[in-house]
Amino acid sequence: MTLQNQEEPGSRPDHAPIAGVIGWPIAHSRSPLLHGHWLKRYELPGAYIALPVHPEDLGAVLGILPRMGFVGVNLTIPHKEAALKLADIVTDRAALIGAANTLIFRQDGKIHADNTDGYGFIANLMQYAPDWRADQGPAAVIGAGGAARAVVASLLESGVPELRISNRTRLRADQIKSEFGAKVVVYDWAQAGNMLEGSRTVVNATSMGMAGKSPLKLPLEALSAGTLATDLVYTPLMTDFLKQAERRGCEIVDGLGMLLHQAAPGFERWFGIRPEVDDALREAVL
Ligand code: NAP
Repeated sequence: MTLQNQEEPGSRPDHAPIAGVIGWPIAHSRSPLLHGHWLKRYELPGAYIALPVHPEDLGAVLGILPRMGFVGVNLTIPHKEAALKLADIVTDRAALIGAANTLIFRQDGKIHADNTDGYGFIANLMQYAPDWRADQGPAAVIGAGGAARAVVASLLESGVPELRISNRTRLRADQIKSEFGAKVVVYDWAQAGNMLEGSRTVVNATSMGMAGKSPLKLPLEALSAGTLATDLVYTPLMTDFLKQAERRGCEIVDGLGMLLHQAAPGFERWFGIRPEVDDALREAVL
């Protein structure tokens, strides 16, 4: 006897979409707060939850979530690189960056991977420093981790004429140069302060300066007034780097807006509305 009205395994019955963020650990994530704010604001059915997933379990979890009504997930440390390898379809920018932060579980069962960190980085600058232009002069990026790769990709795409980079582990910066090309100039970590000379955009893309981590120890004498300084660290919101840059007459943009903007494309794909990044959202997340 065949059962009528019974769905095939893996098919989706009619229900509200569920999304979430996968990390290990995950308790610190602000993503549930910000997606929760948007769901409430646009009065949408659905949920967004934090999912603690051990690295060993990532493949199994990604296999089962679509069968539980999940339409996609965000990824945070330590899953961004591994998720890229598990995806069926990878956007060019995610492939270039070598990491994914947004997965979409498609109706056909395929996992689509994207990286929206670079988009979030540029959108934050456009919102809070609307006169900033990438082509005004060289950009200096401190750090060469996963987030730095997204920043490098987005700055080059936006038209910086020269991309200076320095990292404690020089090999990672050299790797970025070999992948991203001739506009990238690597500075030795001991001389990192020198790359600020003449730079029109300066980015802290390390975790230094974050609450509980070591401070960013970089001589900032070469930082000139009018330069755009931005920090990816957003806890605290006003890092020592930003404070010092402001004292030197730089225009400053904190890192929270990047977090908010990188979330918007995923929310739109999962819940059907392009959400707004505004002061009410900032307040909710803070
Ligand atoms: P990651 O891949 O672990 O890279 C960490 C970076 O920080 C590397 O360049 C590392 O240098 C450097 N670093 C760490 N401790 C250091 C120290 N004591 N001295 C010198 N360098 C040090 O991490 P990530 O994913 O790129 O994230 C970097 C930061 O960006 C984190 O604070 C993260 O929270 C933040 N972030 C913010 C957003 C946002 O939306 N605002 C998005 C993504 C990331 P080595 O290579 O030498 O280890």
